Amino acid sequence: YAVFCLKKKMTTLPLLPVQDVPMRSPTRRPGPPRHLADLDPAARRVAVAELGEREFRAAQLSTHYFGRLVRDPAEMTDLPAASRERLAGALLPQLLTAAREQACDGGATRKTLWRLHDGALVESVLMGYPDRVTACVSSQAGCGMACPFCATGQAGLTRNLSTAEIVDQVVWFAGETARGALPGCPDRLSRVVFMGMGEPLANYNRVRDAIRRLTDPAPDGLGLSQRHITVSTVGLVPAIHRLADEKLQVRLAVSLHAPDDDLRDELVPVNQRWKVAEVLDAVDAYAGRTGRRVSIEYAMIRDVNDHPWRADLLGRLLSGRLAHVNLIPLNPTPGSRWDASPKEVEREFARRLRAAGVTTTVRDTRGREIDGACGQLAAAEVAE
Ligand code: SAH
Repeated sequence: YAVFCLKKKMTTLPLLPVQDVPMRSPTRRPGPPRHLADLDPAARRVAVAELGEREFRAAQLSTHYFGRLVRDPAEMTDLPAASRERLAGALLPQLLTAAREQACDGGATRKTLWRLHDGALVESVLMGYPDRVTACVSSQAGCGMACPFCATGQAGLTRNLSTAEIVDQVVWFAGETARGALPGCPDRLSRVVFMGMGEPLANYNRVRDAIRRLTDPAPDGLGLSQRHITVSTVGLVPAIHRLADEKLQVRLAVSLHAPDDDLRDELVPVNQRWKVAEVLDAVDAYAGRTGRRVSIEYAMIRDVNDHPWRADLLGRLLSGRLAHVNLIPLNPTPGSRWDASPKEVEREFARRLRAAGVTTTVRDTRGREIDGACGQLAAAEVAE
């Protein structure tokens, strides 16, 4: 995600104590421990009953986790002491351990590198604005889509995250936000974008369930508005159609990055499977089913995809569609041959799109000279 910090402005926050993760046999690859946020309310009641507890304890536990943003059993004073330990021990295992935290923009942007139970690393970013607080979360450790300009794409896919590993990134940030961690910002986290590591629609069921947990009203879930959740995809066409059928009101962002198949085959290799025309058909289907305007993401890469003729072609493709363009200044990844487009080229590109009747915005990157491009925080940790 294009949120990066000026190196000079970056401060490294003190390391949190990193808990010892028990060693597991390398041949057996058990998944992450089961967590409350993996379960829907009915399954939570079953799980609580299996622990020998009364079923209504499930709602109490959910109220602590989703409603009060409390996970420490000592603070769950409405539960008998023995039940607290048993319930929290079984249903609120620690899934994410902060390995590194960084802040910039006067503390209004925070990145966390999380270590998962098996040592896999993912990052999330919290962004505070005067009127809203947004969490940018990861859906996979690594990514299998291999887009050459994206740092996460270079390392390949490690594994899918579980539903709870996705949800817990947001719940941690919601807790920090409620404790006033972002100066000058609201104390309630209100938006989530699936623009961290991974391809959310390649981890479809878990991402869909995570969206349900995030949007179910408290105490069953976090109670966010579906309209304030954005799923960003490289354009997995069948999965976009499936998402359109879910009757969710989430916002869809499609990483197009090129209007022509020749170039898109290179920049977004999954285009070799689903071409621009099919992706745009899926965009129409999504917009048609949900009534929601789709966001077309376009990273501006100098002399690669920023030509005036490509702006005109994109304008022709999108005019009349329920879509708008979000131009993202490229964040060059280390060792990459590519650079961001000059500002005047970006302005001309936007001007041509608007002349074609396409609403166009330029993404605010929160600190231009980067410290980390997409996935770079995790990559830096691996290299140490
Ligand atoms: N897999 C999803 C989410 C990935 S990140 C997707 O591709 O949409 C969210 C956005 O950041 C995508 O549009 C992605 O193409 C873009 N991105 C990745 N690396 C970037 C970089 N180095 N500079 C600018 N944008 C980048």
